[in-house]
Parts: sequence; structure tokens; C-alpha cells
Amino acid sequence: MPICFEKSNRECAGTLMIQEMSKKKKIGLMVFLVLVWLGLQAGIGMCDRYGIKGYNGVLTAAQFAVCLLAVWINYKVGTAISMILIGFSMINMLAVMIVTRKMEPLPGFCNLVIYTVTLLLLCVQFRIREKAAVTDILTGLQNRRGLYQELNAGIEKGKPFYVIYIDLENFKVINDNYGHTYGDSLLQLVTKRMKEIVGNRGVLSRIGGDEFVLVVDDEMDAAEIAERILDKICEKATLAANFTWIDSYLTAYAGISRFPEDSLDAEALIKYADIAMYQASKENKTRICFFNRTMEEHLKREVELERLIKNALAKDYFYLVYQPQYKLGDKKLRGFEALLRMRTPKGEFVSPAEFIPVAEKGDLILQIDDYVLRRAMKEFKDIVEQVEEELTISVNVSAKNISAKGFANKVKAILDETGFPPANLEIEITEYCMVQSVEATIQNIVELRALGIQVALDDFGTGYTSLSYLAKMPINLLKVDKSLVDDIVANEKSRDFVTAVIAMGHLMGCEVISEGVENEEQLALLNGQECDFVQGYVWGKPLDYEAARDIALRAS
Ligand code: C2E
Ligand code: CA
Ligand code: CA
Repeated sequence: MPICFEKSNRECAGTLMIQEMSKKKKIGLMVFLVLVWLGLQAGIGMCDRYGIKGYNGVLTAAQFAVCLLAVWINYKVGTAISMILIGFSMINMLAVMIVTRKMEPLPGFCNLVIYTVTLLLLCVQFRIREKAAVTDILTGLQNRRGLYQELNAGIEKGKPFYVIYIDLENFKVINDNYGHTYGDSLLQLVTKRMKEIVGNRGVLSRIGGDEFVLVVDDEMDAAEIAERILDKICEKATLAANFTWIDSYLTAYAGISRFPEDSLDAEALIKYADIAMYQASKENKTRICFFNRTMEEHLKREVELERLIKNALAKDYFYLVYQPQYKLGDKKLRGFEALLRMRTPKGEFVSPAEFIPVAEKGDLILQIDDYVLRRAMKEFKDIVEQVEEELTISVNVSAKNISAKGFANKVKAILDETGFPPANLEIEITEYCMVQSVEATIQNIVELRALGIQVALDDFGTGYTSLSYLAKMPINLLKVDKSLVDDIVANEKSRDFVTAVIAMGHLMGCEVISEGVENEEQLALLNGQECDFVQGYVWGKPLDYEAARDIALRAS
């Protein structure tokens, strides 16, 4: 779809009409204009022959108008034809002047010179505008429109080619942390690095903030160039921001689609390469994926899930279940972890393990976290006040939320709104939040703790938090991940590892809970390792609200 930039609607509509005209129609119109021009020329000849004065100028102006129209339809072809026709007239006039030795045609000749210059200037202007319309201002690469032209030209030729979609990860974080000027300079640097590798083996375009597309003709080249580009992007980039030098380490993923195997359509080829890139970003093993049909199915499911989540938020198809947590020695109730459940309008159940990752990709997770915090606090406010023993309600909060400025204030607002006592609330975060923004995360944790809220580090043992960061996090509970607990009976190494994790938790001044405990043997081993609490099917599956409330009231 052609796009018009910075034009009035009327002008834009006119240009669109011409641009959308088929090639055949354009050729027909050009031929027609040439005939009109020749007709006008014949008219001029007749006027000269029969000595009719005063009309020559009008006819020449009409010829010029015809030339203008031709240039507007297609500036390259239109200008070429106009030059031939006008050139022909000029030679004719020159010949008359030389043969008759009279200067009568001179004014007309001068007019033609002016028309020629005007048409050439117009042609240059069109050329500049055409180039600007397909060029990305920041990087000088082709933009999305240019890419479409490039792909359509390739499709017309019919020769196989490969579309490589490259996406920089977490670029938004760089813009947020160091500002857009720094981000722009970094994009320019990345472009320079990519261009060095691509050379003349392909055409590079920038089609979004941090999204690039490379088109190459050779499959070997596609995989190899993509690999080298990703390596190059990962190299340290040092640029100035606010008068200091800042090092950035980018990561990127690439997806590749093939013409003609995957699609014969430019838009679909880009979409499929994007889907493959997305797949690569989710896999741990590879940074580059070639598109296949299964990926499309996954994406369709994600779109469907996103729709279901929005619907569930709007129509309250969400509800919470509560999994009990117990003290290991005497099986005293510590509290509950609130776990989200989603029903579809047809009554089907969708696991959070499936829909939470989808919500985390966009901003839906922010609404979900708000919902869970508010609902858990509302449902348990009276209960925690009623029971004599301390009862902790744990709520999972996504990395996006805990690493966002002002999250602690948001929690405080919900506490004020619901009247829930802060000391009975626990926020569960994962190590992944440290990847997003260390400073903001630590700041939020400190503020939450200052409000009296407890903070737990979930899924411990699955991420890669550096110990120095861990030491800075003022958390009070470490949750040993189920994957570690699973093996402790059969595997001695796992057992030793869990022992070390529990000891480390205690060293950091935290209590430790093991999650996903499913049998008595695991319980016995964890007891021997001085684990403080357990959560798992062995002592309690997630319960609906009423059942959880009954357990809490009975326990007190
Ligand atoms: P998680 O936070 O690690 O939650 C523990 C998951 O392990 C829960 O699955 C729980 O039902 C399951 N589980 C607990 N004990 C056992 C056991 O002994 N055996 C087995 N096989 N599983 C056990 P669930 O409820 O399906 O939640 C899956 C994940 O979804 C959660 O993992 C959490 O990452 C996410 N999630 C759930 N609710 C929420 C929520 O309200 N907000 C956010 N942001 N994420 C949530
Ligand atoms: Ca959790
Ligand atoms: Ca967990």
C-alpha cells in the first residue's frame, strides 16, 4: 500500500490514484499524452503555415502542461519522453533559424529551454522525494516501504531469496535508562556494524525502532551472515551519554523465511521471518530459526490467549486458588500462595503456565498483577485479622512490574484501598527481574520492605542471578525451585546442591521454602537439610477460596 507523507489529503488522494493505476493503464495514458502532444505540435505547424498569429504560445503552453502530466504519472519515463519531444521541437526550430537566417522562432526556442529546465528540476525533486520515502532517516537504510518494493521486485523476478528478520533485545530498556539520543547513536553504531558484514551480499532495511530486515539470495549466506551479524551486535558498544561513556551489551535474535517455499507474498515473508525470530528468542539453544508452519500455529494460539486474557479481565473470568505453605517441623500453617486461574467463556480451563508468559510479553501482565494483588488482599483481609497466628499471603508479581519505577507505591495504594495489613503480604519475584533493571528492582524491594511487606525470591536455582546482586536484594524468603527438589531423592548431587542453597539462604538471613514437594521421602530429606517451610502436593494442592479460608480459620 503506497504511503503519502506530509501532504494534504486531496493531493494525497490524487497521487494515490496515479500510484494505484495498473502498469497497463499508465502505458495507455502515456501513449495518449504523446498523441495529444503531437496533435498540439501539428496545430502549431498549421498556425505557422497559415500565418495564424497569437495561438502558438497557447499551444506550446498546452504542450508543456501535457509534459508535466507525463512527469507526474511516471517521472522517469515522463521526463525521458518529454525531453525527446521537446528536443525534437528545439532541433526543428534551430534548423528553421539556420535555414531561413531569421530569428523569429527564438522566443519560442527560449521558452522550450525554460520548459526543459523546469521539467528536469521537477524530475530531480521527484527523485529526491522518492528516495526519502524509502529511506530511514536515522540510519540511512531502506525503510519498511523500501523493503516492500525490494521484496516485490524480487518476487516478480522469481529467483529464490531469504528474508532475515533481526530484532535487538531489550532495546527499550536502553532508551529508558540512557535516553533516546543514546539509543539513536547505538542504533547507528549497530547499523554500521551490520553493514560491514553484509557488504554487497544483501540489502539491509530498518523497519521499526530496533527491527532490521536483511534480504539475501543464498541460503548459505543467510545462516552465515545472520550468525555473524548477531555476534557483531553482541560486541561491547561504548558511547557517550550525559558526558559519560557508557558500555552497552546488546543481544539479538534472527528469524529466516524463504521465497518461494514459505510464501509468495512480501508481507507474509516478513511476518514469517518475524515469527521465526520470535521462536529463536524463546529458545535457549539457538539465536537463529528458520520459519516452519508449527511456529505459525503457536502464534495463532498466542493471539487467541491474548484475546482470552482481555476478555477474562473485562468480564471477570479470573479467579484465585490458594496453595498452603507449612512449617516443616510441626506442619504449622505459614500461609498461602495465591495462584491465578482463568476460565474461558466456554468454561474451559487455561493453565497460568500457558497464559502468563503471553501476558508478560505485553502490558496485560501489569493489569493481571494488579488484579491478583487486589483480589487476594480483599479475600483475605478479614481472615488475616481474625486468626491469631501470623498468616502470610504470597502474590506472584512479574519482572516487568517489580522492575518498574513506582511499583511499591502502587502496592501501597492497594493496601490502603483494601485495608490489608502489610506484614501479612508477601510479594514473590523471580530472578528474571534483575535482567530488566537492577536499580529500579532493588529500589522497589527496599521500599516494599520499608512498608513492612515480605519479599520472596521464587524459582531459585533456575536463573542466573549473580551472587553480588543477590546479596544486595533485601529479601526474606528463598523459594527452592521444584526442579531442584524433584531430584533430591534419586540424585546425590541434587541433594548436595539443595543443602548448599538452603545454607546460603540462611547465610543471607533468609528463611527457605522448598516448592513442588510431592512425597514423604523428599519431606524427610528437606527436614534433615534444615529447610524451614514446604509447599507442594504432599501437604496440599492449590485450594479454592472457601477451602483455603476454612483451613486458615481452623489452624488458628
Ligand atoms: P510458580 O509461582 O512457581 O507456582 C508454583 C506452581 O507449581 C503452581 O502452578 C503450583 O500449582 C505448582 N505446584 C505446586 N506444588 C506442586 C507439586 O507438588 N507438584 C507439581 N507438579 N506442581 C506443583 P500453577 O498454578 O500452574 O502456576 C504456574 C506458574 O504460573 C507459577 O509458577 C507462576 O510463575 C505463574 N503464576 C501463577 N499465578 C500467577 C499470578 O497470579 N501472577 C503471576 N504473575 N504469575 C502467576
Ligand atoms: Ca510463585
Ligand atoms: Ca516457583
